[in-house]
Amino acid sequence: MLDQNSVAHNCEAVVLHCIDFRFNEEVDNYFDKRFPEGYDVISIAGSCKGLLNDEEHRKFLLEQFQISYRLHHPKTIALVQHEDCGAYGGSKNFSDTDAEQKFHQEEFQKAGKLLSGDFPEMDIKGYYAKLSREIATLQ
Ligand SMILES: [Zn+2]
Repeated sequence: MLDQNSVAHNCEAVVLHCIDFRFNEEVDNYFDKRFPEGYDVISIAGSCKGLLNDEEHRKFLLEQFQISYRLHHPKTIALVQHEDCGAYGGSKNFSDTDAEQKFHQEEFQKAGKLLSGDFPEMDIKGYYAKLSREIATLQ
């Protein structure tokens, strides 16, 4: 019985995404399909921005990833950036949608590099949620 409970207590992934309500439904639907056994969610305005630009936020987020890892043993970290993110000044801060996506691609790469130092055994994946309700993968 105890063993069954502890197995049921493992999840596939830990997902970091922004607080922005406009993307909750598409992000939930997407990861419900991708990680049907379940996933932990960490939500903070700007997603990767918290890892990269603010020491207190980075400390807080690394702690959240560690708690998820310790309690639920996820194998994947999913970092979700999104279009028109207010924490980055919104779409108006970029010359066009390609430039915006490219910027978020770079944010993902930097955050992934940072996290791979602390979680070398985890697979780190990046996603970009668009207002069109598509989710693109970041490399
Ligand atoms: Zn946002």
